[in-house]
This record gives sequence, structure tokens and C-alpha cells, in this order.
Amino acid sequence: MRKLRVGFDVDEVLYPWVETFRHHLHTTQGWTVDRMPDPTRYAFGPEWGIAEEREFLDHAVAAARSGLLHSYGAPIAGASEVTRRLVDAGHTVHIVTARRYDDSYGVNDVLMSSTRRWLDQHGIAFTTLDFETDKTAVPTDVYIDDRPENVDAICAAGAVGVLMDASHNQDPACVRRRVTSLAAYAQIVDEVATA
Ligand SMILES: [Mg+2]
Repeated sequence: MRKLRVGFDVDEVLYPWVETFRHHLHTTQGWTVDRMPDPTRYAFGPEWGIAEEREFLDHAVAAARSGLLHSYGAPIAGASEVTRRLVDAGHTVHIVTARRYDDSYGVNDVLMSSTRRWLDQHGIAFTTLDFETDKTAVPTDVYIDDRPENVDAICAAGAVGVLMDASHNQDPACVRRRVTSLAAYAQIVDEVATA
């Protein structure tokens, strides 16, 4: 079996970001849950009545600044078990998250510590943790993300890109390799390692 560099996105792969963002807006803005349905596309602000990108960003930064990202939200099923099993099998696990905003917000230090703390708290095993919007910046052999464009970039870089199924990536034109669970992703890793 080959030892692989196995990559993971954080939000909507390991962490329930949309659920957390909904909780943040409910508690800070008083928005009803009915106003915030499961998104049908990645840039879902307008679906929740947030017309401006800037307003969406301001809310997202406020959620990050509040510390919610290390105190709220249970891991996606299998996050701890799957990452631990991969490391135990001799692979390395590389977490690459785009959790980074323009420096002018002054929130990136909080985000980095929140992310690391939440991963540690929930026993999620990893070898490296990087904050990059370009998911190919950290070399991996196989990588999972919920954003179709990121999966395309991984495939274009020569790795195996896998799409984590989500309500916001159901476009029927999307033909990327898709899984509905982290356990299914681990099976793909096993296939690649033994191919
Ligand atoms: Mg994501």
C-alpha cells in the first residue's frame, strides 16, 4: 500500500459552517430559521436575504470574531475516526482551509487559533494545517472539498479530487466524483493507496 498525502477542507467537510452561521445570525440578528434554508448554491447570501457580498462578509467575520467557530458545532460524522485511521495507516493528513479574510478585518489570528482549537478538541488528527484559498498550495495525492471549483483545481494539479456532497453543490451538471460521507472518502483513499 502506498503512503499518501490525504487532504481535507474544513468547512462543510469536517465542520458544519452553514449551521454555525445560521446560529450566529439567529442569535445576533434575530433572524428566523425559516429565513435561512439549506443553501442551494455556494454563494448563498441572496437566498438568506443578504444581497450584498460585503454584508455577507461582515456577518461571517463577526461569527469568526465571536469565537463561535471553536465553541459551536459538532464535527461532521466520522471526522475524528477517519482522520485517525488514516494516520494510523501511515498516511499523512493535510488540512487546508480558506478560513482567512482580508487583513483589514484583523480577525485572522482568532480564526487560526479557533480552527486549531476546535480540531484538537474533537480529536481530529492532522499532520499539517494551512490557511489557503488555493487548495493546491499544499501538495496532496487525494483531497476532499465541498466547493466544485476547488475540486477541479485539485484534479487539474494531478491529484484525485473528491466532492463532499452538500445542498449547495447539487447542480446536475456537476459530474465530479462525489461522496456523501467521510467514511466513503476513506474508501476512495484506500482504493488510491492500493491501486
Ligand atoms: Mg468548504
